[in-house]
Amino acid sequence: MSNPSLLVLAGDGIGPEVMAEVVKIIGWYGDKRGLHFAVEHDLVGGCAYDAHGTPLTDATMAKAQAADAVLLGAVGGPKYDSLDFSVKPERGLLRLRKEMDLYANLRPAQCFDALADFSSLKKDVVAGLDIMIVRELTSGVYFGEPRGIFKEGNERVGINTQRYTESEIARVARSAFELARRRGNKVCSMEKANVMESGILWRDVVTEVHQAEYADVELSHMYADAGAMQLTRWPKQFDVIVTDNLFGDLLSDLAAMLTGSLGMLPSASLGAPMENGRPKALYEPVHGSAPDIAGQGKANPIACVLSFAMALRYSFDQGDEAARLEKAVEQVLADGVRTADLLGEDGRTPVSTSQMGDAIVAALDASLT
Ligand code: NAD
Repeated sequence: MSNPSLLVLAGDGIGPEVMAEVVKIIGWYGDKRGLHFAVEHDLVGGCAYDAHGTPLTDATMAKAQAADAVLLGAVGGPKYDSLDFSVKPERGLLRLRKEMDLYANLRPAQCFDALADFSSLKKDVVAGLDIMIVRELTSGVYFGEPRGIFKEGNERVGINTQRYTESEIARVARSAFELARRRGNKVCSMEKANVMESGILWRDVVTEVHQAEYADVELSHMYADAGAMQLTRWPKQFDVIVTDNLFGDLLSDLAAMLTGSLGMLPSASLGAPMENGRPKALYEPVHGSAPDIAGQGKANPIACVLSFAMALRYSFDQGDEAARLEKAVEQVLADGVRTADLLGEDGRTPVSTSQMGDAIVAALDASLT
């Protein structure tokens, strides 16, 4: 059988810097674990615009559709701020998400013990936290019609429409239940069924999918506003949270910040299974291209490294190897290795992006002895 394929789109700013560390780790898995990937590199975002006049060429799009998984660094930067909206770097990313129909956005919020002091919440509230937010990504109020700013009598009215079909809700609910079975076996579904019909339908469909296919998973429901409060009060009560596009946008950012630095946060966006059974998948750090530190070797590569760990788990069925990589990151942090973003005012010297990558590779080596 041929090696699974990975399309690597490093992008702009710190994207190529953090991706270089992931490429080291991909090499390690080939050398030391016999896990070989057919890796192809291509352009997305501003660098694609510079080369081709578009942030994503049709050829790159076709490669993404055919790949077993896409790994993306980051796109954007001040150089491209004045470009027309249609060719801005972010349009490349949006096109990937849309054309691959990546409807389930997975945002883990995991707090490594060594970084518990970094959260704005008390240490005992966040230490050991490990939750997963599944946000519906391709429908809801960001896409519903009618939308626009219209004239009504003497004034303007802004309209967006929250719209969900049963099948859109059911497929993202299935993603959440499947994930829960691999984790703590609990799903909490969040909507506003008290004030929105789309919320009533959301709750009904999640309940139906649960009863018909996933009765072994514990399911609860919560209004999204109450969910926001509970996430800051005692986040460890949750395992998997499934919610719509708008609430997920807010709740996933809230949950992410429980854990400290933007440089630590991975994500996955998954779509329907392909012929080989693997889901369409794009893995990327949550952070952007960080122009303020780009090119200085200061970026924290961990978010991108943990995004690759998600790829190992969700695209390549290598849960044990994903756990090995996550443990290596945990070990490095426990040893006190820190990029600048993970240091407060404590006077320690930060390591560079590539030194952090090397430390993770050394911890992977140590995991074999
Ligand atoms: P950003 O995430 O790039 O940076 C925000 C802050 O966090 C900066 O101070 C940055 O130095 C820091 N930071 C981010 N990632 C870090 C890392 N790995 N290590 C250490 N520090 C890190 O957000 P921004 O400044 O609002 O946006 C910059 C550019 O990135 C813009 O062009 C924006 O459109 C784009 N952007 C892209 C994506 C993406 O590619 N998915 C996401 C968000 C923003």
